[in-house]
Amino acid sequence: MMGVQGQQQGRLFYLGVDINKRVRKDHPLRRVKEVIDFDFAYSEVKDCYGGNGNVSVPPPVIFKLMLLLIFYNVRSERELMSTLPERIDWLWFLGYDLDFQIPNHSVLSKARKKWGAEVFESFFERIVMQCIEAGLLDGRKIFIDSSLVDANASNNSVIDSKKLKHQLHKRYKTLEARLEEKSESVDPSRGYVKKNGRYISSTDPDAAIVNRGKAKLSYQVHRAVDGQKEIITATDVTPGDVNEAHLMLPLLKKHHETTGIKAEAVVADSKYGTIDNFLACHDVGIRAHIPDLRETAAKRTEKSGIFSEHRFEYDPKTDTYRCPGGNVLKPKSLHMDRQSRDYAAPKKTCAACQLRHQCTKNKSGRTIKRHLRQEDLDRMREASRSALAKQDIKTRQHLMERSFARSVRYGFDQARWRGLWRMRIQEYLVCAIQNIQVLIKHVFKPKRGIVTQPLATGTVSMASILSMVAAVGDFLHSLIKLNYVVNEA
Ligand code: SF4
Repeated sequence: MMGVQGQQQGRLFYLGVDINKRVRKDHPLRRVKEVIDFDFAYSEVKDCYGGNGNVSVPPPVIFKLMLLLIFYNVRSERELMSTLPERIDWLWFLGYDLDFQIPNHSVLSKARKKWGAEVFESFFERIVMQCIEAGLLDGRKIFIDSSLVDANASNNSVIDSKKLKHQLHKRYKTLEARLEEKSESVDPSRGYVKKNGRYISSTDPDAAIVNRGKAKLSYQVHRAVDGQKEIITATDVTPGDVNEAHLMLPLLKKHHETTGIKAEAVVADSKYGTIDNFLACHDVGIRAHIPDLRETAAKRTEKSGIFSEHRFEYDPKTDTYRCPGGNVLKPKSLHMDRQSRDYAAPKKTCAACQLRHQCTKNKSGRTIKRHLRQEDLDRMREASRSALAKQDIKTRQHLMERSFARSVRYGFDQARWRGLWRMRIQEYLVCAIQNIQVLIKHVFKPKRGIVTQPLATGTVSMASILSMVAAVGDFLHSLIKLNYVVNEA
């Protein structure tokens, strides 16, 4: 008989409602709650609060609210708070009851301002440590890459700071004050320099215009990922126009500080294959599995019909080069700023050379640049062409793309807030969540071969189907054999 729904009438009281029972056993938030101890927030932020005045929302609850915001990629804090009373699982996760007074959305922005990005960095580092304790991190081979993130500002907000019209405008004075504030907050030890200081967004001065097909205000996220289970071990955010190669060493340093494990090999794409990076890796004893930029440049030179530097043979005994024309290039000028020396043949020799059109377009003849630490560089470059390095470079592409693609689920590709330090908070939370996901997967891994679900009556398991197929096969085989024996007889 068909059931008919009566007129819906809300009950005045609900007795015996256990919010804990309403959240399923394998709910992801239940697992997060079991794995992560949010009480650490009390000790982390205790100095940010005074002894008197209004009682704040407990810091672990604020942390959980921020985590929900990113985990479910909720558009805004207002939306999070207005959705909260409708979500039993969120209420349970926060330790709230059904009729609990929901805090105002502003508690989150106030807490961010009060705590700063360091608290969130510390949270991220704690998760990395938990991953190490769970045996999910090897730490010896690190993959590095960066990705652009759209800033939370319109292109229309960009102004040319050199135009007098803008400088005379009232709004520019406020912007200038903010810029001064910003430059104080930028830590030069982080290893980056913003390229474009002329065009500035008046709504988010930390973001930079990046033109990759389409000009956009962007930030750049830099990550170091461990090869074993793809745990993010170090991360940083810079304005979008920063050269990512400058961030390689700071990331390696952060990886070491956070994990306590020294990387033995770093894997990155050709943009990181600079002389400085190769030599820095050499000095700290790290293998650089990075495609050599010089190789690409040499191929390009050969393609254009000019001899590449590979064609010039160096003789360490005489400290000279021998060119394809068989002439000697002797050391000339020394450039301390770029740590290199120029080698050249006499001007007259090059002028009279028959191979000149294949060697140089310069009227004074061909010059070869040699770095003062060329032997170390050559050794590092040689290692970057090994079979293992090539394999790592291949792996890197998919591994890093996966890491960034997973972050898109948490809204990583769009800045939620404005300002570099807020962007860092967003990135720490996204990376922490990604690592938590790996941790949960590992901790709650189903035990293999112990429990098998009993089959319902009338259903046939795959194993029994396979055994039936095997029995039929055996039967046919014996029939064929019998037929063969009869024919033989
Ligand atoms: S142009 Fe000069 S450097 Fe080049 S092959 Fe001729 S002599 Fe040698």
